[in-house]
Amino acid sequence: MYSISDIAEILQGRWIQKADNGLIVHLLNDSRKLLFPKTSLFFSIVSGNRNGHQFIPALYQQGVRHFLVSEEVDTTGLEEANIIWVPDTVKALQAVAAHHRRQFSFPVIGITGSNGKTIVKEWLNQLLEPDYRIVRSPRSYNSQIGVPLSVWLMNEQHQLGLFEAGISRKGEMQALADIIQPGIGVFTNLGLAHSEGFASMQEKLEEKWKLFDTCKVIITHYQDDWINEFIESRVQAGQRLVRFGSHPGADLRIKTISRKEESAELELQYKELDFRLALPFSSDAALENSLTCILVLLELGISPDSIQQRISGLHAISMRLELKEGINQCSVINDSYSADISSLVIALDFLSQQQQHSKKTVIVSDIPETGWTSAQLYERVAALLHHHGVQRVIGVGPEITEHAAIFAAYGFSELQWFAATDLLLQHWEELNFREETILVKGARRFQFERISALLEKQVHQTVMEINLNAMLQNLKWYQQRLQKGTRLMAMVKAFSYGSGSFEIANLLQFHGVDYLAVAYTDEGVALRKAGIHLPIMVMNVAPPGFDALVEHNLEPVLYSSSLFQSFANFIRQEGIPQYPVHLELETGMNRLGFALAELPFLTAQLPGSPFKIQSVFSHLAASEDAAFDAFTKEQVQRFEQFSEALKEVVQYPFLRHIENTSGIFRHPQWQFDMVRLGIGLYGFDAAMAGSSPLEEVSTLVTTIAQIKDLEPGESVGYGRRGRITSPTRIATIRIGYADGYPRSLGNGVGKLWWKGQLVPTIGSVCMDMTMIDITGLQGVREGDPVTVFGKGLPVSKVSEWAGTIPYEILTGISQRVKRIYYQE
Ligand SMILES: *Cc1c(COP(=O)(O)O)cnc(C)c1O
Repeated sequence: MYSISDIAEILQGRWIQKADNGLIVHLLNDSRKLLFPKTSLFFSIVSGNRNGHQFIPALYQQGVRHFLVSEEVDTTGLEEANIIWVPDTVKALQAVAAHHRRQFSFPVIGITGSNGKTIVKEWLNQLLEPDYRIVRSPRSYNSQIGVPLSVWLMNEQHQLGLFEAGISRKGEMQALADIIQPGIGVFTNLGLAHSEGFASMQEKLEEKWKLFDTCKVIITHYQDDWINEFIESRVQAGQRLVRFGSHPGADLRIKTISRKEESAELELQYKELDFRLALPFSSDAALENSLTCILVLLELGISPDSIQQRISGLHAISMRLELKEGINQCSVINDSYSADISSLVIALDFLSQQQQHSKKTVIVSDIPETGWTSAQLYERVAALLHHHGVQRVIGVGPEITEHAAIFAAYGFSELQWFAATDLLLQHWEELNFREETILVKGARRFQFERISALLEKQVHQTVMEINLNAMLQNLKWYQQRLQKGTRLMAMVKAFSYGSGSFEIANLLQFHGVDYLAVAYTDEGVALRKAGIHLPIMVMNVAPPGFDALVEHNLEPVLYSSSLFQSFANFIRQEGIPQYPVHLELETGMNRLGFALAELPFLTAQLPGSPFKIQSVFSHLAASEDAAFDAFTKEQVQRFEQFSEALKEVVQYPFLRHIENTSGIFRHPQWQFDMVRLGIGLYGFDAAMAGSSPLEEVSTLVTTIAQIKDLEPGESVGYGRRGRITSPTRIATIRIGYADGYPRSLGNGVGKLWWKGQLVPTIGSVCMDMTMIDITGLQGVREGDPVTVFGKGLPVSKVSEWAGTIPYEILTGISQRVKRIYYQE
């Protein structure tokens, strides 16, 4: 246990203000994740355009008394706070964790590599659970901040640590190595992922290898020759390199592999011992990851027999939290593969972002966690659930049920207890789930997948998967390109460019976007009904919608004198004094907006109007195109001139904005007070075709309904347009033009993606189905997923084939295609 003075001492920090000494149990880097004010130490971290120091007063209000800062802070109003200054708060967080790490001598395994880190860590956790009490990184907490927070979880009860380290540029690994100080190193592989931050693959490998300086044993496999040579050259005295592979020199030698559809049989040799293992996987990646784990187990002295037993129970792990549509208007978050405190916290954070239903429910099992008595543990669980605004708790398992009284003391509005999952299922009808957001969180042995299967709505076999992490990355990428003080309006019109509505708005609201904009009033109303409280600008309003607009506090764009007058009349009748509105100015797009010639109208009408002008804006017609930069500049000049003139009339400050996605990055000097980020959020920027730092957010996946073999002379589809001239195998997939797959992509114009291969369409696209030509492909089966666009096949490629732009493809995907939201 550390006190704040201990921490000041460890860090050699300078006291800005010293108050009562106190115990530090929790390290806090994100003010939104505050749970235990009294025992938390807040690290004020500056990153991008977020400055942690600005949250200090609010945290103080919530009871936090310990702060670490790297800037001078005004201490008025913070009289009872301990405030310690250090030059760099991230380094300080790392130093505290490194110090903590040195207090323990049990074995620690450090895992790095390009792919598979999290899976290997989670699998090792499952495989080694029978022998050790394990502390591990929650999910993929492997960054400069995630690693120290993970290592901080170590306590005296643990017997083994599993920590992963991820880096994205040169110079980052040393800090992580100093914190983890692994005795056993695991290197999964070197892949192409995350290469931007490195000059070469060698440099990337060199950097990753720094994790292993303190290792006695390094576990990996034979890879490309240059990698093998590099690795061999880096082994130091006192280190043992242990590898698997089919190479004759391999420590775990793969003699044969025979793969079946969902499994593989291996003949192996390890230290003179020959044995066979049957693995419940057949893909290359799963085999590689499981062999890595097997070699770790062998090195820890676990026998092949015991390994076989454990590995048969191994299951594919979902690395992500998914939000799905459920029965009776519920939303369901299925996290039923593990239950421990740190993953519970992550899942609860995800739950608390969801505002669509006022009722939040958690179904939670007994929690196998060490280091606490069970009373302390469930006290903690109850506090966490309460803190995250959960109203209904359904506990499953003998232990949690025994501690029901603890939960009762917290005043949850509904509590239900079952000693086993079967009992819950027997009472299913009485549980009456309706219009609530439900988190399903259970330890493996409780088989909560049986519960989530009943809760989730059966979906059409074509789904659009929305990667919320990718969206956040994209948001951050643009936030980092904003001039200081520039605000960000996120465009969520047209169902957030096809990717959803309230789910996306929830995320953006949670991550501090300033404004939202939609095209039509009903889109704004839907967001308000789903609990979105950010200001929302509506770009295209009409009198029949004025009532709803005002009722839901939506802010219209006024773009013409007639709209100005009709809305002013409406607001006067309602008797509202200062209704927030936005003015759109015409500068060259020639779509909507006041012309400069209407300045006299505005000059006459604005002073006595019932409006509060929130912002004045215009829209660029060709911000992405260098050929039109002179025109863009003219638009900006007209905007400046017009909006300056309005400043004279309006007399109070309002926001000015003109840039959309491509403008933000190409013309940073014209960001004014706010920018309007649209398609960039969703992973595409026309100004960055080629090597884009953005990640595509949506992946549209369908499935194969049937496979057929055809002979010359036959034909495929309507109008017999798919002519067969040689023996051909086709597959019918569950997507058609009614789903938004353009008909122009038929007859081989469009291609789809099956397990890394491009497959052309054959015949015309039908309303609900399309046929593809799979001739010559091995192992295609009915039910296989086929990607329409997204991971592996950029939407820009598909739009190019269709002769259109990504905007049209994304927004054209029909609402009958279910969306699944996930967080990795
Ligand atoms: C759609 C829209 C945007 C966003 O454009 P992107 O190119 O998607 O960034 C910005 N402003 C207005 C007025 C829009 O209609």
